[in-house]
Amino acid sequence: MFDVHVHAAPDVIDRIGYDDQVGEQYAADGFSGFVLKGHQESTVGRAKALARASGLDVVGGIVLNRPAGGINPVSVAATLHSGGRVIWFPTADAHTQESAGLPRLADLQPRLGRAALCTPPVLAANQQQLDDITLILDLIAEFDAVLCTGHLSGDECRWLFDQCQSRGITRFLLTHPSYTVPAMSVAEIGELAEQGAYVEITAYQLWHQPDMTEELLAQVARAAGDRLILASDAGQPNSPPPPLALRELIERLARQGLDHSWLLASASDNPRKLVL
Ligand SMILES: [Zn+2]
Repeated sequence: MFDVHVHAAPDVIDRIGYDDQVGEQYAADGFSGFVLKGHQESTVGRAKALARASGLDVVGGIVLNRPAGGINPVSVAATLHSGGRVIWFPTADAHTQESAGLPRLADLQPRLGRAALCTPPVLAANQQQLDDITLILDLIAEFDAVLCTGHLSGDECRWLFDQCQSRGITRFLLTHPSYTVPAMSVAEIGELAEQGAYVEITAYQLWHQPDMTEELLAQVARAAGDRLILASDAGQPNSPPPPLALRELIERLARQGLDHSWLLASASDNPRKLVL
């Protein structure tokens, strides 16, 4: 199996373990690898060090939050040229994160202010930002890397998907589109999946998303079809260990009548094909 979304220490909040400890859990469970995600820093160096030490396919990337300089091609170029594979659009600094009252770095340091990041559908007519995004997309296409939508709004995700299609990006993952942010409908998710977007469902949603149900997650999975990607998004001290979290997601969806081998492929072959 291969988990495209996990968090480990060090981080600005508590995590279930350090990179090497989380890596040991995956190895003990027979996983081939995982993508290490950090909201506040590039994980390329951490992932590469762990890949060399463990023999697992540990993959890094960068989230375009404020610590990375926001939505900027410089961080993207540095990440891709040093072997990073995944570029996430803003998460903790997305405007949706602020409006939904989800955790921000400014919660820990109020002196930082609460400025948030938007993409053009929300922040219209900013030519510099449009130029930056165009260059970011061209770099991702050139490296055949993965674009994840982070916590952008549904409108922004759709806009970005259209841009990606016209610029030759094939590895486009909607980050947990049924989560509180961006809260896309099953119909919207199905429409984008049909056009080629990969759709992520996370085990995190089972335990930490208010009002989420297994039934709704199963509907999202059906809408995603062969573009489904199952991930843990675990690493919280109050979630199961990441490999177990992902296995539990598969079992709970199977209980909703979904085909077990398809679910397993969505947490192994499909994510490996997406990322590697
Ligand atoms: Zn996450």
